[in-house]
Amino acid sequence: MTSRPLPFWLAGAVVAGTFAVLLWLERRQPLRRPVEPKGQRLARNLAVVALSTAAVALTERPAIGPLSGFVTAKRWGLLQWAALPGALEVPLAVVLMDYTLYVWHVLTHRVPWLWRFHLVHHVDRDLDASTALRFHFAELVISIPWRAAQVLVIGVSPLAFSVWQTALLVSILFHHSNVRLPIALERRLVRVLVTPRMHGIHHSTVRGETDANWSSGFTLWDRLHGTLRLDVPKRISGAGGRRPGPHPRAPARAPAAPVARRRPAPACARRAARPAPRLSGARGTARVGRRPGREAWAGGPAEC
Ligand SMILES: [Zn+2]
Repeated sequence: MTSRPLPFWLAGAVVAGTFAVLLWLERRQPLRRPVEPKGQRLARNLAVVALSTAAVALTERPAIGPLSGFVTAKRWGLLQWAALPGALEVPLAVVLMDYTLYVWHVLTHRVPWLWRFHLVHHVDRDLDASTALRFHFAELVISIPWRAAQVLVIGVSPLAFSVWQTALLVSILFHHSNVRLPIALERRLVRVLVTPRMHGIHHSTVRGETDANWSSGFTLWDRLHGTLRLDVPKRISGAGGRRPGPHPRAPARAPAAPVARRRPAPACARRAARPAPRLSGARGTARVGRRPGREAWAGGPAEC
């Protein structure tokens, strides 16, 4: 039952539909003031996406698809040993994949050479749904052994893998989007799921804020590890101020950015990299229940 993935057309329609709805909402109720013209950014980020999609199609899909089928046929991995019904196995696989992706995300920040590739995602000057897909193709290729280990150890079936992948894409499109949700709704959502204001803090130019909110789906992992931060005043991010590096605005420069000579960060990034006063709240703790009007979350107007 779980040996067949979701139909490609279904997963594609869900992801494309989510992207289209978010683009529409970003026009209607933006959360942050954009720095660059939308069309220009969209074209640039989609060019980076085309490259990384081709890399995934050529490397991850031929490797992980068959591996997942093999794991299911041979009953390898935790969930296969447990021999759970599909209705339990698939959600559990999604949760465990989400947790192990949290660990991978931490590594991409902590290991210097991985950070050089992940930085391409973080140096986007604005933050919107297109940023969600802006990853250096090498980062995606480098992550394949990790993905293979996830599938092998957890025992992820093809159906569970495709459900997790689709849910992940929907989640990252959503929490990178520049959509202003009603604050009361977002405070409720963030108890369980990563939201735009929460993830905006991760894209901060201040290191203490970038080293937080690593979850990609459920906020539980940041809560468990004490890395959840919601106590940050309004600020835009995305200028990559943590470790100033190459600033690949042109798609042609993006592939070489991780190995290019470092340049000084843009002036706006240096300005934004200064520690900002916190409104209140202790570092590393969740502050979900603030009163309206004390919006201590990133998501305000851009500083540069
Ligand atoms: Zn990151």
